[in-house]
Amino acid sequence: MTPPETTPVTPELDREKVRPEAPTTFYDGDVQIPGYGTPPERCRALSPVGFCEAGHTILGRSSCGTRYCPDHWRDWCEDAVVSAVARLAAYRHAVDGAEKRLSHIVASPPQDRSYSKRAMWETRSEAYDVLEDAGVRGGVSVTHPYRTNERGDMLFETAVESGEIPEETGRWAFLREVSEDWEDFTRYIDASPHYHTIAAAPSVEPGDAPDDWVVERIRTLKPFYFRDTEAYRAMVAPVYYTLTHGAVEDAKHTLTYFGDVHPASFDPEEELTAAIWSRIQIEAEKAVKETGESGEEEAIAGPAECPEDGCEAATVDVYYLAEYMDDEEWVTSVKCGVGGREKWLRLKGVLLWWDEGGDRPPPSVQGNEKKLRNWLEMKGESVTPRKQQVSLSTALMGE
Ligand SMILES: [Zn+2]
Ligand SMILES: [Zn+2]
Repeated sequence: MTPPETTPVTPELDREKVRPEAPTTFYDGDVQIPGYGTPPERCRALSPVGFCEAGHTILGRSSCGTRYCPDHWRDWCEDAVVSAVARLAAYRHAVDGAEKRLSHIVASPPQDRSYSKRAMWETRSEAYDVLEDAGVRGGVSVTHPYRTNERGDMLFETAVESGEIPEETGRWAFLREVSEDWEDFTRYIDASPHYHTIAAAPSVEPGDAPDDWVVERIRTLKPFYFRDTEAYRAMVAPVYYTLTHGAVEDAKHTLTYFGDVHPASFDPEEELTAAIWSRIQIEAEKAVKETGESGEEEAIAGPAECPEDGCEAATVDVYYLAEYMDDEEWVTSVKCGVGGREKWLRLKGVLLWWDEGGDRPPPSVQGNEKKLRNWLEMKGESVTPRKQQVSLSTALMGE
């Protein structure tokens, strides 16, 4: 295959193996954004997470909390945002007056050249220097490997104009939604490294940036007071959003701290009283849980509605199963109807499994829903004396 003549190809890439298609980026797919890797082995294990009001057992995957995982990258995001917001809040609490001022600032390196992925990471330190020269004291930085391209922007703007998506939808959230996979996503973005920061800066003098660097203040955040919930939310929003499309590559940090906010320069435990630091961390966590990317709340580690065909009953965390099983009326309603006995046996199995500590089910069944359901059923059966009346009622009620 010959690369199309119009595509600028870096010499480095030229030497690499022949690809079925011209590369869409010069990072060659090695640099991704969160949620497009392979889930680690440990998060593929299924285990019971709850049940529905109609008595179906709900299975789910335990979170691996890694940024690569398509199912759990948001958990990783949340944890990172909690730490970042707590650190920023602590810093703002510790400093005086205008020093508390926080802005969302972007530093873009010279655009007249191509960056390899290595150059992208290395340029990050240069970005810190440029930012500090422009009056930025320090903060949280997220490396962005890509910008949306014309194709992505057009698709997004058309969707907004036609009212297809709510106005507040983020460009990246939208493109993630419409892309089938990472390869599909790369049609809407171009490699173009830049560095987002949520940083303390009493004033920003972009004019002081060295040649060809562009330092841009996107907005200044709400003033900070450590008891003001809104001030935390105002920090969560930009950190979370920028992190959703930060650079992901093995052994490299997507989010870093720099300048006066870096752990080497600022230790909240030293600068703040234990009570205030603890309060700040609680506020940060609360703000992340309540804001998130979408603002959705999850009651259980699974769906809010029963995924069983045609059921749609509300789901309940496995924690409450014992209580439900003590309710004779509820148990009777579960046992009745099609497949009632199996549902009930499975719930008994879940209860037993939970009482035994709720460890991961055996490897032979944890990867397969059907096998896991059978295993639970047999577990339930093992503690159920065989009684004629149960099968009789099944025979009467069932079809
Ligand atoms: Zn996972
Ligand atoms: Zn159900």
